[in-house]
Amino acid sequence: MYVKELFYGLNPKNRPKLSTFENKYGYNKMLIEQNINIDSSCEHHFLPIVGHAHIGYIPNKKVIGLSKINRLVDYYAHRPQVQERLCIQILKDLQETLEIEDVIIVINAKHMCVSSRGIKDKSSFTTTIEYGGRFKDIEFRNSFFDSLKFKVEE
Ligand SMILES: [Zn+2]
Repeated sequence: MYVKELFYGLNPKNRPKLSTFENKYGYNKMLIEQNINIDSSCEHHFLPIVGHAHIGYIPNKKVIGLSKINRLVDYYAHRPQVQERLCIQILKDLQETLEIEDVIIVINAKHMCVSSRGIKDKSSFTTTIEYGGRFKDIEFRNSFFDSLKFKVEE
């Protein structure tokens, strides 16, 4: 179970193939994939980290299939993790794959090692934010955060 499911992301062979496509339609504004499931485990206690990632990027020459972003998040989440490193690993991979710097990622997650043992705080959660390129600009970052308020009926 640990090798095949929970920690399958430790094996580089399991990294999803992120086939990219030429940005034919020339879409060059922000693209945001939000509410991506985070299903991870903390490396200190092997207890679940659960939450959501929100990722934005500004395409240049390449785009990738939307579900590939979810698959990449799932891959890096499925190994013993700390949330800060998870955030950075996903950002760097997307920057390399898309050959751009303009990527931002926010992760909100609850850590069972905080809610179910020790302090047993059931309400707190952890937010990590990483970004590069144009997202270093506060206005760009804010327009990304504004878009996170959008909701789609399920
Ligand atoms: Zn922990």
